[in-house]
Amino acid sequence: MANYKDIESTLIHGGVYGDRFTGAVNVPIYQTSTFEQEGLGKHKGWEYARTGNPTRHALETLIAELEKGKAGFAFSSGMAAITAVLSLFQTGDRVIISRNVYGGTFRVLDKIFRNFGIKYSFEDTSDLKSLTQKLSKDVKAILLESPANPLLTVTDIAGIGKIAKENGILTIVDNTFMTPYLQRPLELGADIVVHSATKYLGGHSDLIAGLVVVNSEELAERLGFIQNATGGILAPFDSFLLIRGIKTLAVRMDRHVENAQAVAKYLQNHEAVKQVYYPGLEGAQGYEVNQKQGKNGGAMISFELKAPYKISKFFSSLKLIALAESLGGVESLVCHPATMTHASIPEEKRKEIGISDALIRLSIGIESIQDLLFDLEQAIGESEK
Ligand SMILES: *Cc1c(COP(=O)(O)O)cnc(C)c1O
Repeated sequence: MANYKDIESTLIHGGVYGDRFTGAVNVPIYQTSTFEQEGLGKHKGWEYARTGNPTRHALETLIAELEKGKAGFAFSSGMAAITAVLSLFQTGDRVIISRNVYGGTFRVLDKIFRNFGIKYSFEDTSDLKSLTQKLSKDVKAILLESPANPLLTVTDIAGIGKIAKENGILTIVDNTFMTPYLQRPLELGADIVVHSATKYLGGHSDLIAGLVVVNSEELAERLGFIQNATGGILAPFDSFLLIRGIKTLAVRMDRHVENAQAVAKYLQNHEAVKQVYYPGLEGAQGYEVNQKQGKNGGAMISFELKAPYKISKFFSSLKLIALAESLGGVESLVCHPATMTHASIPEEKRKEIGISDALIRLSIGIESIQDLLFDLEQAIGESEK
């Protein structure tokens, strides 16, 4: 493992660099399902491509270096990655999930893992004191996002990590919204990091992928076993695309965040806007904690329009910003959490955790800030009519 001063270099040169057989500067796409063996038990380290593929391996080494972990694992989606991590648990175990966790994470626990006797509870992980009181004997892990989807609630990762360690519980952080460029949970005391690499790591809205990084040899062994046994691996071509996307992560994120800061300020000062949720704004929930544990507030913003403004009109009036699920691509997207990303959470539960029907979520892309502000301004104007 090369040791670069800054993550900007590791993004480009980390993991496995190029191809030593030809000098190609990019890792080739090893589009093969199997590898010829010289004799019984004699092979070059590769046997069958579910177990290991050199292109996927290059990506797995890269993400492990970026998150400062012991080992990385690439899956066919963020949900496959989360499913593999949840497969560490057994009947009778309980997983605490942060209240604003990704809808799919809630769904897989509620509709799949519950059938196998793995329990979950929703807790406010941003409130360390009350969380400590919720740690019954059966709790084996705390799974959190910070900032969490879609209210951008910040959780003190180091604080959770400390409580978890004292109680022999695993801390799992879904770092999708921040990426290792902005925040490295393992350095803050987490045990496992998961990613929907579909989002910022891929960065171009052209692939579905998931990544896991663990902080110990023991977890590496268990996760490696689960990955091979259950088989939700990332294909060689998608592994290549993801390595390609990761190379430009630093420059993309800098621009994403610069634009998001400007959009958040604009919305905060707009008379049509009731509330802005963005951890990069001074005074926002968890602003100080986020500044301490991350580089900045990221590029996801949620907000609510005031009463006379019609959100359906707002959505249909946007021209540059596309109405779509997902986030983290170079293009700006907008979504309606109540009917889109968080529709799998029952209505009463949504209300309870503060996801109102008026909530709008923006994934700020890297377009011209002038064009973005112009699009928002004209759509807010239309929504008043
Ligand atoms: C999208 C997303 C997921 C799920 O990832 P997929 O790649 O869509 O399977 C998990 N967590 C967060 C925070 C996400 O945004």
